[in-house]
Amino acid sequence: MIELDGSQGEGGGQILRTALSLSMCTGQAVHIVNIRAKRQKPGLMRQHLTAVQAAAQVCGAEVSGDAIGSLELWFAPGVVRGGSYQFNIGTAGSCTLVLQTLLPALLSADQDSVVELTGGTHNPMSPPFHFLERAFLPLLQRMGVNVDLSLLRYGFYPAGGGQLRVQIKAGQVLQPLHLQARGERIENYAEALFAGIPFHIAGRELAVLKKRLGWSDGQLLPKALERQQGPGNALLVTLVYEHVTEVFSAFGEKGVAAEKVADTLAKAVRRYLASSAVVGVYLADQLLLPMALAGGGSFTCTEWSQHAATNAEVIERFLPITICRRHLDEGVLVTLLPS
Ligand code: AMP
Repeated sequence: MIELDGSQGEGGGQILRTALSLSMCTGQAVHIVNIRAKRQKPGLMRQHLTAVQAAAQVCGAEVSGDAIGSLELWFAPGVVRGGSYQFNIGTAGSCTLVLQTLLPALLSADQDSVVELTGGTHNPMSPPFHFLERAFLPLLQRMGVNVDLSLLRYGFYPAGGGQLRVQIKAGQVLQPLHLQARGERIENYAEALFAGIPFHIAGRELAVLKKRLGWSDGQLLPKALERQQGPGNALLVTLVYEHVTEVFSAFGEKGVAAEKVADTLAKAVRRYLASSAVVGVYLADQLLLPMALAGGGSFTCTEWSQHAATNAEVIERFLPITICRRHLDEGVLVTLLPS
């Protein structure tokens, strides 16, 4: 049984999700204490509990401690079974994070899977649907696996109710990937998604991006969604290069000016544009798990976060992999080697 302390490093939900994914993939049982100890509301929230229950269902695990607010969990996996699954988070908790927990195991399952998830699809502090679709999954595709993802309905915080569906072919094997250069720049664009809120909010956000990024009107896309998919507002910037696509996001909030939302996003985009590193801070931590399962890989990233460091430590507990870092003039070179 692998023993983990959820208060280590960054002390967030990723320790739990990575542990679940790797427990399912390797067949090793795990016991976690102090779950999400460094978060404002520690313990299992709806999104984390759904990830636990979904993982348990997919691999017939024996579980204890699976309750809202629980700080401790025992998870003993069984055999991963593909098939048709539906999971409802019940709040605006992130569908994409639950999906990322299940995906590695379902890739190697005995039969194809279709998974439908209900909850948030565009929420703060999680990968928005479009990040998965444009940035994360194409890199998995380059690692040799195909996943078909569709957005059925948008779900914003706090209403939730979004839906996504993913189809996963069985028996797919991840191959090492080395991401050393972005390649040619192909296109850059910004989308202001809005549902059930006034149009001027999207207009003001895009005006700030236009000014701060020096972009033309053709790169600025306001997208009105059906009112009943809101209220909600997500601002997305997509940078497409030959070898990588990055998606940066920010979310409108009551009491926060549209200009402030856009300005924060512009800062993150400008940091990435000013660097030559291939991936940004979020892709960096999310690529570690698939690369570790592939038995190796490398990338350069703009920044090595505490989140990534914590994720690396959990991965090294489950798999015979060493994750090395070397600081470069611009960013950090991350290499995963068999140990
Ligand atoms: P945690 O805070 O431990 O629950 O983990 C949050 C996860 O969401 C990490 O894998 C982050 O990389 C990811 N994440 C957070 N914000 C974003 C964002 N704006 N775009 C893409 N991924 C994100």
